[in-house]
Amino acid sequence: MKIVYGPISSPCMGKAIAVDPIGRHPKACNFNCIYCRLGQNGMVLLERATFIDDDLILEQMGECLYRDECCGVMFKGTGEPLLATNIFAVARKIKEAAPKKVALLTNCSLLLEPGIIEELGVFDIIIAKLDAASDDTFQQVNRPHPSIRHSDIIQGMKEARDRFPGSFRIQVTLVRENLDEMDDIAQLCREICPDHVYLNNPELCDPSHQLSKREAEAAWDKFFGIRCASSKEKE
Ligand code: SF4
Repeated sequence: MKIVYGPISSPCMGKAIAVDPIGRHPKACNFNCIYCRLGQNGMVLLERATFIDDDLILEQMGECLYRDECCGVMFKGTGEPLLATNIFAVARKIKEAAPKKVALLTNCSLLLEPGIIEELGVFDIIIAKLDAASDDTFQQVNRPHPSIRHSDIIQGMKEARDRFPGSFRIQVTLVRENLDEMDDIAQLCREICPDHVYLNNPELCDPSHQLSKREAEAAWDKFFGIRCASSKEKE
């Protein structure tokens, strides 16, 4: 299982190294999104834990970190990266070792846990997933652990947006199941007021969830006035 891989072409940093602090196959996550590129199997996990030792992650990064073509490091996992209790310590060690940008892609489910928002300051960029404006759509699209509430996700995003000193961005994944709610999702984005919104059209998921080109274009139109970009990543 690769814990460090890349370079990936990241829309927020250019060429970046990806770090997976979960390192599980099948995945270990507190969501089971219908479009998940890791498939539908895996462990639904709520408790945070250390999955991979800090030193092993840093050892796998090796000299990749120091290459000029590496503009940054993106934490994204085989599960929600913030489930890894050592993620902040590893991010701090990376920043001490090299002057690179460090970003986190998160499903926002753990933002209201004690101490998490304070620790986010170690990152330069947060990319927060937002796929639903209502609990019904949240259940349909993200299929979270039963204890996770949509209202807490939104509250966590708003608090993080207010207190995080770096660049706060939102990623919306466009699927058939949230298409009717796109106006409300765009409105939520306006309220949270991120620095940027990425609209993600998943290509690896079951075709029954995917939008046609025309539907995707119509969804983009809902975000009129918001700074948007496609979140397509090349690995
Ligand atoms: S949050 Fe990410 S890793 Fe977890 S199920 Fe959704 S897409 Fe997959």
